[in-house]
Amino acid sequence: MVAVEVVDVTDELKNTYDVVVIGGGAAGLSGALMLARARRSVVVIDAGAPRNAPASGVHGLLAREGIGPAELVERGRAEVRGYGGHVVSGEVGTVAREETGFQVALADGRSVRARRLLLATGLVDELPDVPGLRSRWGRDVVHCPYCHGWEIRDQAIGVLGSGPLSVHQALLFRQWSDDVTFFSHTLPSPAGEEAEQLAARGIRVVDGEVASLEIVDDRLVGVRLTDGSVVKREAVAVASRMVARTGLLSALGLRAVEHPSGGGEHIPSDATGRTEVPGVWVAGNVTDLAAQVGGAAAAGAVAAAQINAELIAEETRQAVAARARGEVPFSPEMESRVCEAVLGDRRHGL
Ligand SMILES: Cc1cc2nc3c(=O)[nH]c(=O)nc-3n(C[C@H](O)[C@H](O)[C@H](O)COP(=O)(O)OP(=O)(O)OC[C@H]3O[C@@H](n4cnc5c(N)ncnc54)[C@H](O)[C@@H]3O)c2cc1C
Repeated sequence: MVAVEVVDVTDELKNTYDVVVIGGGAAGLSGALMLARARRSVVVIDAGAPRNAPASGVHGLLAREGIGPAELVERGRAEVRGYGGHVVSGEVGTVAREETGFQVALADGRSVRARRLLLATGLVDELPDVPGLRSRWGRDVVHCPYCHGWEIRDQAIGVLGSGPLSVHQALLFRQWSDDVTFFSHTLPSPAGEEAEQLAARGIRVVDGEVASLEIVDDRLVGVRLTDGSVVKREAVAVASRMVARTGLLSALGLRAVEHPSGGGEHIPSDATGRTEVPGVWVAGNVTDLAAQVGGAAAAGAVAAAQINAELIAEETRQAVAARARGEVPFSPEMESRVCEAVLGDRRHGL
């Protein structure tokens, strides 16, 4: 007989949590899972638009290869809820610092307090203004060879020049197909070492501005230049400008800065996701523009463990100070009573 665990799905939002996780993609849900399992009160507030939503599957993800992006998020939400974490659909509008933590305001008027924040809001892929690019994004217009390279292997691939990483991108996609054409578009035609590299790898360069993508029967068939000529292509790769979603944090003085790669803007952090603003942590694409799903999830878990460690240190300091004042320490019996009152059936403790 198969045991089925029934997880109660609600949009419950308490007044206060140890940690509010803003953004419920791979990074945020993974962080929340760690925190819930660490018996922290945690809520994930998620606007429900993960970056890879247009793609049909998540690739390069061990043990979940090819899973649909929506299914991955649903499974993650269920896992968080299975340990008593809350997951709420909504968009956070603003965040403000308070004496002992943060006030997080949702766009729908609700608000919640947090001792710590984990920001996992991901990024926005800004695409060149070429008709067809956005509507084919994640299908036959792609950016990442590790996400899509296998699916478009041996196809006629065009790489659209859009920024400092474009020639590198063309050299990468050459690993998956020997028919790669580089469209310099609005960039200067590659020169010097770059031109030599492209020629040596058999990558054709087409100069001139791209006007649009040619779509027939819901399939990409070519790239049209402004002179009217069409170069047959089955897939197009383009390096988006990746801009971290951070507007809601400006009141805390935390702003996105240019990433050293030149590929976009991110929030800098240390290797564990700690930012320069005390109590605020980041994980996933909001800080690491190159993180894939596995890397984003790992970063969420690392940040969560660090947040938990910081809370433990704070609670220990408070307990030591209380003990020095001769106050009664927090007993297991007292914890059990408080847990029952606050959490009811979802309580833990002795
Ligand atoms: C087309 C495409 C295909 C991809 N395919 C793959 C692949 O095959 N394999 C792979 O490993 N990676 C793939 N990626 C990369 C993958 O999307 C990222 O690695 C991953 O989404 C990063 O996770 P994240 O949690 O940092 O951000 P996201 O997954 O983008 O999650 C961020 C979440 O935060 C929410 N949010 C944002 N602002 C707010 C707010 N103010 N309030 C509340 N919620 C908010 C968003 O709605 C979203 O749900 C692909 C990317 C693209 C663009």
